[in-house]
Amino acid sequence: MPSSHTKRGPTKRRPTTEASTYKNYVNGQWVDSSTGETFPVYDPSTEQIIAHVAAANSADVDRAVTAARAAFDSGPWPQTTAQDRGRILFKLADKIRQNAAMLAELESRNTGKPIVEAEFDIADVATCFEYYGGLANKVTGNVLPVPANALSFTLREPVGVAGQIIPWNYPLLMAAWKVAPAVAAGCTCVLKPAEQTPLTALRLAGWLDEVGFPPGVVNVINGLGETTGAALVAHPAVDKIAFTGSAAVGKLIVKSAADTLKRVSLELGGKSPNIFFADADWEAAVDGALFGIFINQGEVCSAGSRILVERSIYSKFVEAMTEKAKRIKLGPPLGRDTKMGPLVSKAQYERVGSYIEIGKKEAKVAAGGGRAQQFSKGYYMQPTIFYDVQNSARIAREEIFGPVASVIPFDGEQEAIRIANDTPYGLAAAVWTRDIFKAFRVVKSFRAGVIWVNHMQPTYIEAPWGGYKQSGFGRELGPWGLEEYLETKQVFVNLDETPIGWY
Ligand code: NAP
Ligand code: MG
Repeated sequence: MPSSHTKRGPTKRRPTTEASTYKNYVNGQWVDSSTGETFPVYDPSTEQIIAHVAAANSADVDRAVTAARAAFDSGPWPQTTAQDRGRILFKLADKIRQNAAMLAELESRNTGKPIVEAEFDIADVATCFEYYGGLANKVTGNVLPVPANALSFTLREPVGVAGQIIPWNYPLLMAAWKVAPAVAAGCTCVLKPAEQTPLTALRLAGWLDEVGFPPGVVNVINGLGETTGAALVAHPAVDKIAFTGSAAVGKLIVKSAADTLKRVSLELGGKSPNIFFADADWEAAVDGALFGIFINQGEVCSAGSRILVERSIYSKFVEAMTEKAKRIKLGPPLGRDTKMGPLVSKAQYERVGSYIEIGKKEAKVAAGGGRAQQFSKGYYMQPTIFYDVQNSARIAREEIFGPVASVIPFDGEQEAIRIANDTPYGLAAAVWTRDIFKAFRVVKSFRAGVIWVNHMQPTYIEAPWGGYKQSGFGRELGPWGLEEYLETKQVFVNLDETPIGWY
């Protein structure tokens, strides 16, 4: 059992029924909404309110953006060296590691994800801050061989004020993927967490001053997407929007950002294929099919929600998956043996439930098919497997974002590739086979940004993350993630002292 969970104080406190109140973090201060408005935050396993959070309206967003703008344009931040920015990020990573048990518990309670998964997430959060702390002083320009008696070079400079909007499935990890590279680049940020899951980002905000961030460099504001998020996207003093969420909202963001021609990067959803050839390692394959879709209750942008199985093993594969899926342990998020907790919210539970009803008309149910009846409270949904699914069915085309798998048979490599790529999305894809020739042919044929061979889901801070097609544009993580927050300035220094002699 990981000791981080058992040693520290926060785990001893039983989740209280009393809801705490959180403010927003703007310009180094905790502030209420200017109208005093708040919104409730829930524990999806009990359906109880666990917090009230200040709801930022457009005046509050303006205050946060103004603070970020001022911190970028003047004050100590523009003079801060890359080394110093790196050190601040390392200190923040240390704080996260020291408080990992508390953060994991809070994340688990607020999202419903199993505590063991939340612990992995929080460790990744710290690693992300460390990674970009290390990268901060490795940003360099180029000297260019222009055909002139001159010195031509590039400078890499921060984009400016970044507005960052994140979803509820990996709350603090998505915050880290955005804030860490922005800070490393020298940007300032206004972060808007998802309305369902603002709590861990607010805990993080509580350490910013202590680890050395000047006021205004990182601001955290909460509220609804349609108001708080939209005001951030529309604000003329924001230079860049980084967004993770649904394709539908991504499209709204691009339209709104067009008015002020902001830079935009989008990490949207997917309908990722997980392909199983007959020669794949059997045990690993069955496990990999389930892990690909049921990890984090299926609330994963890269979920392997379309399971493509070669016809010769199809029936046996569906049977084996079904057998194992029925034994997946659903339970309270804080249970150490829980493999699936409740879905994040009532709205998501209803959305997934409605897709399951659609699926029952489009295909056959092998496992699950609705609410997990053993729980009297909480948004628990059974791991659900549909088989004999047509790739044209809605459950195979639309992102469900829950524990719902569509199993589709195929005949041969060409058909597998055709079905895999027949989707508007292109975030991720996986292929399972022992034949390396086939594996690499399929890798090259996939139209997607993240590919796994004989695995699905492992994600590392060092490697780029992002999609093709309607899964968005731009890349997070690794040096690619830093690029999104950098401008390139081209400089020409004339070394020829004679006049131009043109006129
Ligand atoms: P969403 O509606 O796209 O929300 C993502 C973020 O955008 C949230 O912070 C949200 O605020 C904000 N937002 C919503 N409308 C906005 C607007 N008009 N302008 C600016 N910001 C806005 O996603 P969701 O409701 O959290 O989940 C619904 C679907 O999103 C899922 O079923 C899935 O398809 C997709 N999703 C994808 C990923 C991914 O990693 N690619 C992650 C999570 C969800 P609110 O909190 O107020 O909604
Ligand atoms: Mg919403």
